[in-house]
Amino acid sequence: MSDPDCIFCQIVAGALPAHRVHEDERTLAFMDIAPGTPGHLLVIPKAHARDVLEIGEGDLGAVVLSAQRMARRVSERLGADGVNLINSCGAAGWQTVFHLHFHVIPRYAGDPLRLPWVPEPGEPTEIAALAERLR
Ligand code: AMP
Ligand code: ZN
Repeated sequence: MSDPDCIFCQIVAGALPAHRVHEDERTLAFMDIAPGTPGHLLVIPKAHARDVLEIGEGDLGAVVLSAQRMARRVSERLGADGVNLINSCGAAGWQTVFHLHFHVIPRYAGDPLRLPWVPEPGEPTEIAALAERLR
């Protein structure tokens, strides 16, 4: 399934240029054009799916395995000291391209990336109540 208005579907089809790094039957990995750190890449399903809520289990499993492969590769080939695998879902969750993707972001000791929030202990009763709603 392909969406002609989707830029990542156009990359899969070869209609838009990309630095393709790895592909298999179900997935494609290519370099992000606005890298957070050197080597930042994206892993996507070849079939269009909007986000992690919508994608089927088979394609999601394939994307996660491909992301693991690329995490290992940036560690081995680029000497990354760590890796962030990031998926954004929905505009409120920072998603800007609505074809599911996992960011594979190599992390280097001392690099400038920081968490966008400051972790502080939560209210225990509120945490427990939310846990109950999620069971
Ligand atoms: P998100 O904000 O999580 O939806 O991530 C979208 C990502 O796609 C951003 O990191 C963009 O830099 C990246 N991006 C957008 N267009 C392209 C493109 N044509 N080729 C490679 N990466 C792209
Ligand atoms: Zn698409």
